[in-house]
Amino acid sequence: MNNKPWATLAPGVRWQGWWQPDDAELTALPVLAARGLHDGPTVLVTGAVHGDEYEGPAAIHHLFQTVDLSQLHGRVMGLPIVNVAAYHARARVTPADGMDLNRTFPGVADPQASLSRRLAHAIFSNFVQMCDVLIDLHSGGAKLVHLPLVGWYVGDNRAEQMARAFHPALHPWLIPAQAGVLSYEAHRAGKAAIGAEWGGGARLDNAGVAAYAAGIRRLLHSLHQPTQASCASNTAACIAGSYQEVAQGGLFVAAVELGARVQAGDLLGTLYDELGATVAQVTAARAGLVAALAHNALLHPGDRVAYV
Ligand SMILES: [Zn+2]
Repeated sequence: MNNKPWATLAPGVRWQGWWQPDDAELTALPVLAARGLHDGPTVLVTGAVHGDEYEGPAAIHHLFQTVDLSQLHGRVMGLPIVNVAAYHARARVTPADGMDLNRTFPGVADPQASLSRRLAHAIFSNFVQMCDVLIDLHSGGAKLVHLPLVGWYVGDNRAEQMARAFHPALHPWLIPAQAGVLSYEAHRAGKAAIGAEWGGGARLDNAGVAAYAAGIRRLLHSLHQPTQASCASNTAACIAGSYQEVAQGGLFVAAVELGARVQAGDLLGTLYDELGATVAQVTAARAGLVAALAHNALLHPGDRVAYV
């Protein structure tokens, strides 16, 4: 029996449906797949690795509603909702084990392992391993708001070209290497991997959906028309930084706007306790652009407050 219909599509055929991993404790996954009439690479697009991020799923749905198989070279596969349980819980993390799925790739098959690690293994072994290119679409989730970013990992020139040609609304971004992250582990497995961020605050920004869908379409086209893509490349200096967390909790009142330029030591905002006393002043750890800020203002110790 063919348990993976997307893997054996004939040219000019599309497939969509729910796929149940062999591990029966894992939730079934929605899968969209299409194979063009022309030969080409296999591109995997993923959304909602974090369950409270919505532009990715909507962009993947839109892409497959409009894809023209007569123009498509190769195969495109979409996993609009990678973490279905987290999506239904409106949560960033997997409800059953509280783990961030995007720190568990490539996962393990061991039935004793956490649900997140087993889901990561099912995704990685059944989808990521067969692709040439991975596009992982994120947003700030419920807790953060992001500037639009599209990034690659250091040393991958092909992915950098793809990211810079993706869409002019997104800033070029050198993604910090972090073990367990889907795009980083795909990069380590030899795939051309790009990751994107847009908005957040648990809302769906239609401009983000449109930019993501247009970017994927453009990238699919550029994979067989590489010269055209490089003409329209975004040559701006890339953003490279990291998230800052708060050591103490409190009500965070920001002193900067998203997108502001700061120097190391500049005030990002102040944390207040329930009586209005200052708990801590949060300052920028480095100079740069404020590329993400807390959206949910009540921060707990260890929460992310900004990306500089
Ligand atoms: Zn995310």
